[in-house]
Amino acid sequence: MEDDFKNISNKVNSVLPDDWIGGFELGWSWTEDFERRIYSLYLQGMNSNLLKLLYDAGYDTGKRLGEGILSYFELEPRSLKERAYYFDVFLSKIQIVTIKYSKEEGYRVLTFIGGTQFSRNFKELTGESICHHTAGLIAGCTKALFNRDVIVVESRCLAKGDTDCEFRVWVTE
Ligand SMILES: [Zn+2]
Repeated sequence: MEDDFKNISNKVNSVLPDDWIGGFELGWSWTEDFERRIYSLYLQGMNSNLLKLLYDAGYDTGKRLGEGILSYFELEPRSLKERAYYFDVFLSKIQIVTIKYSKEEGYRVLTFIGGTQFSRNFKELTGESICHHTAGLIAGCTKALFNRDVIVVESRCLAKGDTDCEFRVWVTE
């Protein structure tokens, strides 16, 4: 039988004590520092390899994060729906981001309410979407948690003046 949302929430809370969350958020801030430095390098030379590097690094991190969640919460035998619940509760616990999920014809949409943490550093400054690292992260995490290969493209971004960051996700066959 599937756990209900409250049970999942309790389980996540019992596995992740408050000091773990603090450590995670500190580690995340280091990741963001690198992301910002690499993006600044891109702005200087407009070398698109650096954007790919951000996506690929995000993919690796997302994959590890997804595998971590699978293992911490012992989700291997669980349904994809339950895995998604756990991931949601995990995200709400670490409070780095609030994500709204929706579905369009042919693809899914993830809206990061108020933008990604990274984009807030460049609010209305760039004229283009900049959250390549987050896009890769979504792809890597989806691979680990749901065993799906996806392509992720950011369609709206706080950095180019949108009110949030929006990612479109296509499953590749
Ligand atoms: Zn963005």
